[in-house]
Amino acid sequence: MDQQKPSKKRIAVIPGDGIGQEVIPQALKVVRASGADVAFSEFDWGADRYLRDGMTVPPDGFTMLGRDFDAILAGAFGDPRVKTNIHAKEILLGMRFKMDLYANVRPVRLLDAALCPLKGIEPRDVDFLVIRENTEGVYTNAGGVFKQGTADEIAIQEDINTRKGVERIIRYAFEYCECHTKLDGSPRRRVLMCDKSNAMTHAGGLWQRVFKEVGGEHPQIETQHMYVDALCMQMVRDPRPFDVIVTNNMFGDIITDLAAGLQGGLGMAASGNIHPGRTSMFEPVHGSAPPIAGKNLANPFGAILTAAMMLGHLGLTREAAKIEAAVLEAVRQKKTTQDIGGTLATREAGEWVAERVSS
Ligand code: ATP
Repeated sequence: MDQQKPSKKRIAVIPGDGIGQEVIPQALKVVRASGADVAFSEFDWGADRYLRDGMTVPPDGFTMLGRDFDAILAGAFGDPRVKTNIHAKEILLGMRFKMDLYANVRPVRLLDAALCPLKGIEPRDVDFLVIRENTEGVYTNAGGVFKQGTADEIAIQEDINTRKGVERIIRYAFEYCECHTKLDGSPRRRVLMCDKSNAMTHAGGLWQRVFKEVGGEHPQIETQHMYVDALCMQMVRDPRPFDVIVTNNMFGDIITDLAAGLQGGLGMAASGNIHPGRTSMFEPVHGSAPPIAGKNLANPFGAILTAAMMLGHLGLTREAAKIEAAVLEAVRQKKTTQDIGGTLATREAGEWVAERVSS
């Protein structure tokens, strides 16, 4: 955590594409209303800029972000006009990989029972988090194609797992578990590692060995293991036993969309891309959602909760708590967008939360 710097926190804001451009302004409005001592600098990196002048990220872009800012708040990247999605890869994966933001932290919390598609599940039953390895796995895009476009085509997608990468994410999960409580104030107790080591034996073996080793250094924390397929079934049958889940890049990507379903859908989910001690990046879990972009329909709460998560990370815990409480109240009073049962538009939902925060 970056708590030594006492002064105004400098935040780089990259709204990006599609609904990112609609939800991020709402998050900024709410942060301003909270009175947090922050200064925003906005960057226009995204599809429009790429289509205009071919730029995705300026040459010193990532160095500048790490040097000049305490945190980054990003929206979403992806635009149907850019078929290759090159700008999204260079900006989003660029930040994660080149700034080495190795821990993708995704809290899964149910604010109101009405938002959960499962029967009989209360807010206290869904309060876990997924810690996803963010810099390795199949997302490195290592591999290649041979004889492309022929009947003999071969495509190889390598799954990269380094000892260093696996160890640091597993350590992060145990340390997180040790230092954080649940929403009701009770301690977190268990780290579950999710893999597919029965089929992917080489990578799975490394994860298994490291998990056992690091788990042994934390005897007070319970350890558990599940194959990813079994975990998916468990998540929709009964999410109550989950606490801290640690997993690789791809499984983390998939299970966090499933988990977002438990908390009201993609519009409600927040995430942080973290390297302890360095400038970290916060973004809602959802993408640019082209079908609803530009219509003032997108749920801004995922982005607003992401901004609160960022403030908490920067040590502005009072402002973060105020924002979370206001979103909770909005959900309870159905002052929400249509995707979670309300009637408000993006801007109105953001406005309601901002007013509540400043009242
Ligand atoms: P990506 O791969 O970039 O993460 P995705 O293909 O998973 O994106 P999203 O862009 O996140 O998909 O959205 C999928 C669908 O979920 C959208 O078309 C929309 O219907 C819904 N959705 C996502 N985010 C929101 C939101 N903030 N508010 C309302 N609906 C949303």
